[in-house]
Amino acid sequence: MMATTHATMGVLLATPLFWVAPEFAVPAALAAMAGGVFPDLDLGVLEHRKTLHYPEHYWPLAAAAFGIAVGAPSTLTVAAAFFVLSAAVHSVTDAFGGGLGARPWANDDQRGVYSHTRRRWIRPRRWIRYDGAPEDLLAVVVLSIPGLALYDGLVRRLTVAMLAVSVVYTFARKRLPDLLD
Ligand SMILES: [Zn+2]
Repeated sequence: MMATTHATMGVLLATPLFWVAPEFAVPAALAAMAGGVFPDLDLGVLEHRKTLHYPEHYWPLAAAAFGIAVGAPSTLTVAAAFFVLSAAVHSVTDAFGGGLGARPWANDDQRGVYSHTRRRWIRPRRWIRYDGAPEDLLAVVVLSIPGLALYDGLVRRLTVAMLAVSVVYTFARKRLPDLLD
């Protein structure tokens, strides 16, 4: 899945705040966007889908962060809670995408996301066959609806930017391995 898919999913996770605590809706959405992208910062230098991907460990952290946010609600505590929640959801949902490897549509790689608890890779389920697949773009479009319809200002502008990046990435995706070779 594209980082933008995870980021827009984060915004969706934050939208209930519009009804619960609207004063925190925007910082929560921005933090959830950042938390949705965060695990993929292990792309390149570190070991992708392993170093910053924790399908299990982010959850107790998220629970603790939400406990703190409910007990002492502030922009910082609420933002931290949604950052960790979004990273947790990202780490789990990567298992529903494709494998690693330069051409994930070839199904030649069985690494979905690394489970640090089980010390092995979780196999990719390929509901979204690879990052930048047409169904991945469809997911971004659908997940962008809250960011476009409910928010204004920075959240909406970032959502529009992520949509644009996702469209370009989807169209260029299959040519990328050749460019990098
Ligand atoms: Zn990831």
